[in-house]
Amino acid sequence: MYVCLLLTPVRSNIRDLDKDHDKTEEDIKALQSVGQIIGEVLRKLDEERYIVKASSGPRYVVGVRSSVPKSKLEQGVRVSLDMTTLTIMRVLPREVDPMVYKMSTEDPNGASFAGIGGLGEQIRELREVIELPLLNPELFQRVGIKSPKGVLLYGPPGTGKTLLARAVAATLETNFLKVVASAIVDKYIGESARLVREMFAYAKSQEPCIIFMDEIDAIGGRRFSEGTSADREIQRTLMELLNQMDGFDQLGKTKVIMATNRPDTLDPALLRPGRIDRKIEIPLPNEQSRLEILKIHTRPIAKKEELDYEAIVKLSDGFNGADLRNVATEAGMFAIRSDRDYCIQEDFMKAARKLQEAKRHESKSDYTAI
Ligand code: ATP
Repeated sequence: MYVCLLLTPVRSNIRDLDKDHDKTEEDIKALQSVGQIIGEVLRKLDEERYIVKASSGPRYVVGVRSSVPKSKLEQGVRVSLDMTTLTIMRVLPREVDPMVYKMSTEDPNGASFAGIGGLGEQIRELREVIELPLLNPELFQRVGIKSPKGVLLYGPPGTGKTLLARAVAATLETNFLKVVASAIVDKYIGESARLVREMFAYAKSQEPCIIFMDEIDAIGGRRFSEGTSADREIQRTLMELLNQMDGFDQLGKTKVIMATNRPDTLDPALLRPGRIDRKIEIPLPNEQSRLEILKIHTRPIAKKEELDYEAIVKLSDGFNGADLRNVATEAGMFAIRSDRDYCIQEDFMKAARKLQEAKRHESKSDYTAI
């Protein structure tokens, strides 16, 4: 018994020492192994030899390890080279600008057309220009017309423009790059234009892909000759955007959806067919649409309660989709306060009245109280 008690800490000590030993062995191996250099393929010389520009500057004529697929060794591809023999060891993935990478982390999953209230006609129009060319490009070829590249969604804030774009991407299971145009306007000259270029190149490598550019008026405003250097930078970014829109090929699987609350300020060059092929207005919801939106947001929290939706809709005059979602959130807060795990009619009525009051106050005062 006594021996057993003594042995336990010794065993755990041996286990720890074993772990340390393994780690040290691995570290030694890593130090002894030959490092690799990162480079970019410039040109193929013949079946076995390539010119590669190392990231440190010099260019080398190098061979290829037999396991590397030669079909992938195109111009501009990043590769790693063995430091001593300068053989191409593997093909590396494209370097993606962190800003562009961040755009792609926006996951449209979960969005669906069923989660959008009203906007039936707008959904039909959007699907026609985005879905049809992606799923049946041959239809356009057969008729001999160019397939649309981009769509502009315009209308007041909070009416579901972002929601629509996400629903299209989720339904089609395409990649989705979301960028708020004002966020790419950089203080460094040339940076914003470079980002636009990178974004399109990344979309192309991730096809099928939908690029959603929100607040496009931040870079798509009318150009004018005078202006500060910041204005000129914005204009350069717009020029790059136009250039990219012209560049990517008609039947490519990259589609652009832009959104704005200020369509009147946009540069006509951007709105030209061939760049933006369809302009879809997303208006404030009417009574019927408000009812539909309300049902979408209230059903999950009313649980089994039967609601008189018409009564709530009557209190929501002038509300947009985001306000209606807010009605549901506020009603949920009232339910929590009353110690319930579901909402009742009165919660929604109180919430709608509260928001109506807040909106009235907002429109009267010059500033918005937060
Ligand atoms: P902004 O112009 O300010 O970017 P937006 O038009 O892009 O606004 P969204 O971000 O799509 O508006 O909407 C905000 C939220 O409002 C959505 O996440 C959704 O919950 C709700 N919403 C807006 N419109 C609708 C709608 N038609 N159906 C259901 N929910 C909606």
